[in-house]
Amino acid sequence: MLRTAGADWLHCDVMDGRFVPNISFGVPVVEAIGRAAGELPLDVHLMIEEPSRYLDAFARAGARGLTVHLEACPHLHRVVEQIRGLGCAPGVALNPHTPVAALTDIIADVDLVLIMSVNPGFGGQKFIPHTLRKVAEARALAERTGRRIHVQVDGGVGESNIGALVEAGADVLVAGSSVFSGGDPVGALRHLRTAAAPAPKLV
Ligand code: ZN
Repeated sequence: MLRTAGADWLHCDVMDGRFVPNISFGVPVVEAIGRAAGELPLDVHLMIEEPSRYLDAFARAGARGLTVHLEACPHLHRVVEQIRGLGCAPGVALNPHTPVAALTDIIADVDLVLIMSVNPGFGGQKFIPHTLRKVAEARALAERTGRRIHVQVDGGVGESNIGALVEAGADVLVAGSSVFSGGDPVGALRHLRTAAAPAPKLV
């Protein structure tokens, strides 16, 4: 259904009740989602402590991309290498208070930067406005590597801010509540895609 609605990836939020104050689901559910998703790439966002202990299991469960939190990884470079070694695309997520500059020495090694636009742990939260500046900073940092790196935004993404986020440099937008809360996910995704499209230049 999500594929016919126009979703490009399927984003799974794994929460451990330690790194974030909520528990969501683990490896078996991700595996089941992956089976149901068919060809849709499974983008797994690990909001967990000590993610290196579970990367192998999530890779085997079908994750195409594995994103860990910078705040949860004292040995981030090693974790990123581990993800790459499992054949997955490594991503690094930043909580709202973590500056983009913290990525300076890891950006060249990742395929995705995830800018959290709410404090992670719960769906349905309000977008934190200064995220927009961080998206622009992350895009600028990514461009300097000369590599194609995704800048993803997660939390409170909706029709009111998606255009500005794309303009700031985001190219992967995670939409949860704005797609599923209204009872018409297909229509909601279509509206989001329209709102995300860059406005035509009028000259
Ligand atoms: Zn997420």
